[in-house]
Amino acid sequence: ATKEHTHSFQAEVRQLLDIVIHSIYTDKEIFVRELVSNASDALEKMRLKQLTEKDVFESERELQIEITTDEEAKTLTITDSGIGMNHEELVENLGTIAHSGTKAFLEKMKEQGDSNADVIGQFGVGFYSAFMAADKVDVISRSWEKDSEGHVWSSDGASGYDIESTDEASRGCRIVIHLKEGMEEFATEARIKGILEKYSNFVSFPIQLNGEHINKVEALWMKSKKEITEEQYNEFYKFTAHAFDDPRYIMHFSADAPLSINALLFTPNENTEQFGMGQMEPGVALYCRKVLIDAKPDKLLPEWLRFLRGVIDSEDLPLSISRESMQDSALVQKLNGLITKRYLKFLEREAKNEPEKYAEFYQKFGRFLKEGIATSFEHQEQLAGLLRFESSMTDAGKTSSFAEYVDRAKEEQENIYFLTGLSREAIESGPYLEAFKARGLEVCYFTEPVDQYVMDALPEFKGKKLVSADRGEIELDDIATEGTELGKKESEKLIKFLEEELSERIAKVESSGRLVDSPVAALTPKDAPNAQMRAIMASMGQ
Ligand code: ADP
Ligand code: MG
Repeated sequence: ATKEHTHSFQAEVRQLLDIVIHSIYTDKEIFVRELVSNASDALEKMRLKQLTEKDVFESERELQIEITTDEEAKTLTITDSGIGMNHEELVENLGTIAHSGTKAFLEKMKEQGDSNADVIGQFGVGFYSAFMAADKVDVISRSWEKDSEGHVWSSDGASGYDIESTDEASRGCRIVIHLKEGMEEFATEARIKGILEKYSNFVSFPIQLNGEHINKVEALWMKSKKEITEEQYNEFYKFTAHAFDDPRYIMHFSADAPLSINALLFTPNENTEQFGMGQMEPGVALYCRKVLIDAKPDKLLPEWLRFLRGVIDSEDLPLSISRESMQDSALVQKLNGLITKRYLKFLEREAKNEPEKYAEFYQKFGRFLKEGIATSFEHQEQLAGLLRFESSMTDAGKTSSFAEYVDRAKEEQENIYFLTGLSREAIESGPYLEAFKARGLEVCYFTEPVDQYVMDALPEFKGKKLVSADRGEIELDDIATEGTELGKKESEKLIKFLEEELSERIAKVESSGRLVDSPVAALTPKDAPNAQMRAIMASMGQ
C-alpha cells in the first residue's frame, strides 16, 4: 500500500518523476551537478540579498557548499548556506514545475516513446533528477528571513511528499540523498570527487568534500585560449548554462580597445524555442574583474541574441555599478554594440570555413538572425550577409547568400530580386518568375512565414536594392517571344474589357513585354502591400 503524504505532487511532476525514475538514461551522475548548481544559485542569491538586506538570519555564516558521503548509510548530503526556502517555497519549487517549457518537454517525451534517454539529455530535469539515484530525498531548509521557520521536505519520488517543521535547520538547504540499490557508488568519496573535479572550479563559492576544501575559484574566461581544453569549455558551458549537451559554437576573445573585454560566448546546440518551450531568457552574465554583476542582464546584448550563453567581463565597468544603473549605462550599450559585431563576424567566418556546420546552425537559429534584421538597424547589413536561401539558380535544398547572388549577377544589375511564398514549388508555379528566368535574372526564394516581414524591413544589401519580383514598377528589358503580338488597337480593347470586368478588384491593366508563357499576371502596385501581406491582413480581419 502506498503511504499517505501530506502533499501530492502536481500531475506534471508525477509524470516527470515517472520518466526520470524509469529512464534508461545512463548518465546518472548529472544529478550531482544539478544539485550543486542549485546550491550555487542559492548562494549567489544570498550574496545579492546581503547587499541590500539588513535582517538576515545567521548573517555571519560563510557562503559555501559542504558535501559529505556516507558509505554505510548509503547517503550523499549536499549542504549550502544560501537563501533557503520557506514552507510556501518548498511547495512551489519542489512540488510543482514552474517552467513553462515542461509541457513541451513532456510532449516531446511522449512523442519519442521509450527512447527517452535522449530527451532527458537535451532538456534536463533539475532538482527532480535526484530521483534517478535516490529512493528517498530529504530537504532540510530554512529561509534567510529572520522570522521564518525550518522545515523538512521528504519524498520517495512517487505520488507526493511530506513537510514537517523542525527547529534544527540552519540557513540554506541540506539535501540528503538516500541512494537506491545499485547507486551506492555515489556514496563514495572518490566517485563524487571525480564528478566535482569537472566543474567545481567554476563554482564561485568554496566546496568542501568530507571536510576538505576541493575547489579553487577559476574564471575560465580570463585565461588564454591556449590554456583551455575543449573539455573544460564544454564543462563550463554545461555548468553555467545548465545545459546537458555540448555547445555548437564556442567563441572566446579578449580585447583592450576601445573597451577592455574578456568574453566567452556559447551558441547552444538546440534552439528550445523551436520546441515550443517559450521565449528564452538572456543567458550571458556580466562580470567586472571576475565579480558577478548580473547573471541575466537583458540589455547587455540585443534581444535577438537571447540564445547565447556565457560570460562577458569588462574591467571598464565601475565595480559599484548596480543592476539598475547597469541597464541604462552608456558603457553597457557600447559593450552591446561591440560584442554583437564580433559575434556576427565570428558567424561570417564560420559560414565561410565550415559552410555545412553553418547551414545546420542556420536551420535552427536563422530565425533569430531574421528577428535581428527586423529590429536592429545598425547590424542589418551584417545580418543580411548571413541569410541563406534557395533561388531560381540553386538546386532544391542548396542555399546561397546575397554575396553569392551578387557575384553571379551582371555588374550592371542594380537590384536583387526575390519572391516570398509557402515553398519553392509554390513560388515556381506562380506567374512572376518566368519574366526573370527568361532574362537570366536570378530570383531569391524566401519560404518562411516571417520572411515577408523580414524582407519588408530590409531595403538593400551592399548598395543593391532588394526588390520583390511581383512589383509592378519593375522595368525589365523587352525580349523576343514566340507567337504573334496583338496590335495596338486590339490590345487597347482587351485592356478596356478587363478593366471593366474586374473594376472592383484591380487598380489598372497594362500590356507589357514582361511575360513569357503566362497570358496575365497580377502585380502589386507601387506602395501597396503584396500578396502575402494582404493574406496576413485578411487573416487579421482587415
Ligand atoms: P532550476 O534550478 O532550473 O530553477 P530546479 O528543478 O533545479 O530548477 O530547482 C527548482 C527550484 O527549487 C529552484 O528554482 C529554486 O527556487 C529551488 N531550489 C532548488 N534547490 C535549492 C537550494 N539548494 N536552495 C534554495 N532553493 C533551491
Ligand atoms: Mg537547477
